[in-house]
Formats: sequence, structure tokens, C-alpha cells
Amino acid sequence: MIQFEHRDWISTISLKGEIMNENNEMGGEIAVVGGGIGGLVAALRLVEEGRHVTLYDRAPAAGGRAATQQKQGFFLNQGPHALYKHLAMHTFLTERGLLPSGKEPAISNGKALWHDKVYNLPGDPIALLTNDYFSVTEKVEVGLLLQKVMSFDPQSAAFTALNTVSVKQWIESETKSERIRAFFTAMIMLSSYSAAAEIQSAGRGLAQFKSAMGGVLYLDHGWQSMVQALRDRIHSLVASGQGGYREVFSARIDKIDVVQATGKRVVLSLHGQTEPHTYDAAIMAVPPAETSRLLADQLSPLQSQTLHSLVPARAACLDVCLSELPQKDMTFALGLDQNVYYSVHSASAELAPSGQAMIHLAVYLGPDDKEVAAHQYKDALYAVLDRLQPSWRDHLVQERYLPGMIAANAIHTVDLENSGGRAALREGVSGCVFISGDFTADDQMLVDAACRSALMACDKVLAGIKSVVL
Ligand SMILES: Cc1cc2nc3c(=O)[nH]c(=O)nc-3n(C[C@H](O)[C@H](O)[C@H](O)COP(=O)(O)OP(=O)(O)OC[C@H]3O[C@@H](n4cnc5c(N)ncnc54)[C@H](O)[C@@H]3O)c2cc1C
Repeated sequence: MIQFEHRDWISTISLKGEIMNENNEMGGEIAVVGGGIGGLVAALRLVEEGRHVTLYDRAPAAGGRAATQQKQGFFLNQGPHALYKHLAMHTFLTERGLLPSGKEPAISNGKALWHDKVYNLPGDPIALLTNDYFSVTEKVEVGLLLQKVMSFDPQSAAFTALNTVSVKQWIESETKSERIRAFFTAMIMLSSYSAAAEIQSAGRGLAQFKSAMGGVLYLDHGWQSMVQALRDRIHSLVASGQGGYREVFSARIDKIDVVQATGKRVVLSLHGQTEPHTYDAAIMAVPPAETSRLLADQLSPLQSQTLHSLVPARAACLDVCLSELPQKDMTFALGLDQNVYYSVHSASAELAPSGQAMIHLAVYLGPDDKEVAAHQYKDALYAVLDRLQPSWRDHLVQERYLPGMIAANAIHTVDLENSGGRAALREGVSGCVFISGDFTADDQMLVDAACRSALMACDKVLAGIKSVVL
């Protein structure tokens, strides 16, 4: 079923005069495939430039992985979501006055889980001195290593060289202490969502860790508030006569073809429809497997090979809603010998009714972890809850288990760093179909990579159309 959520073409085309579009022969009609944050960022950017955008999503509503479920007064993101301050998405929203309200979680009083014991997490400089996890000698060593990492210049040759070394190789070359190795590996896992120290690039992992040290936000009412802020801005621009915008939900694109013709060259085939839809250009903001399926033999061998070789960062997530938090001081914990995460997101952001609590837990899955073992991860997460909130079952309102979430479509592996594959993907197809997504940006991860790559795709579309016209 195709739903036109808004009346057709909210506004007529208004293209700031540089593009003639009277005969639909050239100009600014652009399709965006995928209505997650990446697709919405692209749509907003293009509408800001006066383009006429149609956004398609196979789901019945916008948001993709950033959609938030609202149930019994609780706001449930799809697993734990934190917005990194000062990176691409935060900057994009801040520059436009669209940053939703939210708060930074306090991990200074967080806990570290290590061999069935609970320690204070050395999560900030004071906790580093006072924690009971490291010995005195280890505290000095960690302090020095942290200082070294934080003073790395990401543009320097020394840092770039780390891109082709794995996290495991790097930390083993830095220290012999098992506890220090586990600590750094877990902090990189926390900030990049990747439990893949053997294959993940140390340079990229450390850069992300440094970014995370700049702070993160848990958003009030969940990530849906970000989705809504983007859509509201698009609609208000169009209402004021800027560009045009149409959203089409429950609309799965089955194929994208580029035809050799004058006029509109990009042909979208919608599932269940025979009539093709034509555009001047398209931006894809869908997962790698869909990108591969939709563009099929139009991809270059390197693009195709890259899409097939990506290693996703997956997580098994448990969201737990409680009528009250029994142990009020247990708001954050990270497993240092097992890949688990626990955080009471409602302790920072408005995600639960007053006095109640919403906890996100996750097992970071390694590349070899199989989903068939889903129940095993759930039991591991229950064990964490039993340890940190022993009477949680007495207060349970609802829970949700999501066993195989893809937090990032591509771990920044050493192989990927060496391949040049992401740059090839960003080139797109035939100068009019551009590929965005967290798997195409080199230097940022997660939603920041989705945002950054969507903006890069927009730059290409805008430059391409201008060059046709001028
Ligand atoms: C458990 C989990 C935790 C996360 N935590 C964080 C975090 O802490 N910080 C952070 O920055 N990021 C985090 N992320 C990642 C973040 O959610 C995404 O990067 C962000 O939502 C951007 O996604 P996207 O738009 O690139 O892709 P998606 O949200 O996956 O959107 C793709 C869209 O394409 C649509 N689609 C697919 N195929 C088709 C087709 N053929 N036709 C039409 N539509 C199609 C889908 O329906 C979907 O809506 C997390 C993700 C998960 C799952």
C-alpha cells in the first residue's frame, strides 16, 4: 500500500532561479530512498537548497533505526542510543537550532564488571585515581596512556598509521596489564559499538573514543524527537515557499535504474507498481544489502565487493521499564571481561513517567557471534540486572528484547581502511545516484557517519545539477 502522508507536493517548485525545470528536462527533482535519519538529513539539506524531494521508505513511518516506541508512558529507543556531542549530527542540528533537549549521562559513578565482581569504573580523571579496579602502578600507566591517546592529532602520520593496526595489536603493544588492555578495549567498544578488537582499526577506534570523551547526550522522549525535528523543519521550509517535499511510506523500492536519455535519468521501480517514477537524481540512504540489491549490476566491481565484505556491528538489546529503580546509585555499568552494557537512560533524559525508570542493556556481538544463541545473550543481560538491581523483577512494568540489532552497518576494520572501498561507494553510479549511509563515511561512525555521508551525497547532487544547468 502506498501512503501519501501529506498532500502532493506541499509546495510548488521554487528553485532560487538557477535551475529551469519547466519541461521537467533538467533541474531539481530528487528521490531520497530511506527515511531514517540519514535520508531525512539529505531531504532537509536539499529542500534548504530549493530542491523538490520525494522521500520513500518501505516502513509505515519515518525514523528507521532511530524510531522510538512509546508505551505506557515510556519512550523506548531501539536499544541504547547516545548522541555524540560536537560530531556531525550534533553540529547539523545545532547549526539549525534543531537540537532536541537531553542530558549527559553521569558515568563518573559508573561500575565496571570484571570476573563476577563490581568495581568503580575509571570513567573520568577523579575516578581514575580513586577506583578500586586498577592497582596503583596501573593507575599511573593508564593515566599516561590516556594522556597519549588524548593528545593524538588525528591528522598526524603517527595517528594515520594506527588505522592499519588492529585495536588488539595496538593495546598489546602498549601494555602488558590484562586489566588495562580490557579497559581500553571496552572503552573503544562502548564508543564505537564494535566488539571486534581483532579486526577493528585502532586509529578509527581511538578517534571515536576521543570523540566520546567529549560527551554524549541522551535525548528527552528518545531519538524520535530528532526525527520529528528534521521533518518539522522540512515542512516549515516548504510551507514558506522553499523547495518541495513529499513523503511516501510503506513504499519499498525494488530497483533503481539509470537510463541513457535526456531529461530525467533515474528510474525508480516501486514494489507492486508497474508505473516507473523518474527523477533527476537519487540519494540512497538504505542498508548495504539493499544498496547492492537495488543497484545490482550498475555497481563497479570495487563497490560491489565492498558492499559484500562489510562487517556489521550488531547488538542484542534488552530494554527494561521499572515502576521504580531499586538501587538508585546503579545508573551505569560496563563489562570489561564480557561485552555487556547497562545504563539507566531515564536517570538523565525524560524517558519514563515520573519516579519510574527505563534501563537499556546490550550485549555487543562479535563478528562470529551467531543470532541462534539469542536466548544466551538474554540470560547474560538478566544476570547483569540481577547483579546490579537484585529486586528488579518486583518492579517490572514491561521489557523488550531485540536480539540482532545492527548498530553500525560497517565496523571500521583494518581491511576496509586499506581497500578504498568507501570512497568508491561515495562516487555513486552514473553521476546521478549517490550512496550514503554509516558504511560510506571514512572518519565518523554511527549516526554521525550517516549524517556526514548524506551531506556529502547532497553536495554531489547539487554540484551535478548546477553543472548541467550553468
Ligand atoms: C541498537 C542500536 C544502538 C545504536 N546506538 C547508537 C548510538 O548510541 N549513537 C549513534 O550515533 N548511533 C547509534 N545507532 C545507529 C543509529 O541508529 C543510526 O546510525 C541512525 O539511526 C541513522 O540510520 P540511517 O538513516 O543511516 O539508516 P536506517 O535508520 O537503517 O534507515 C534506513 C531506512 O531505509 C528504509 N529502507 C530499506 N530498504 C528500503 C527500500 N528498498 N525501499 C524503501 N525504503 C527502504 C528502512 O525502512 C529504513 O527506514 C544505534 C543503532 C542501533 C540499532
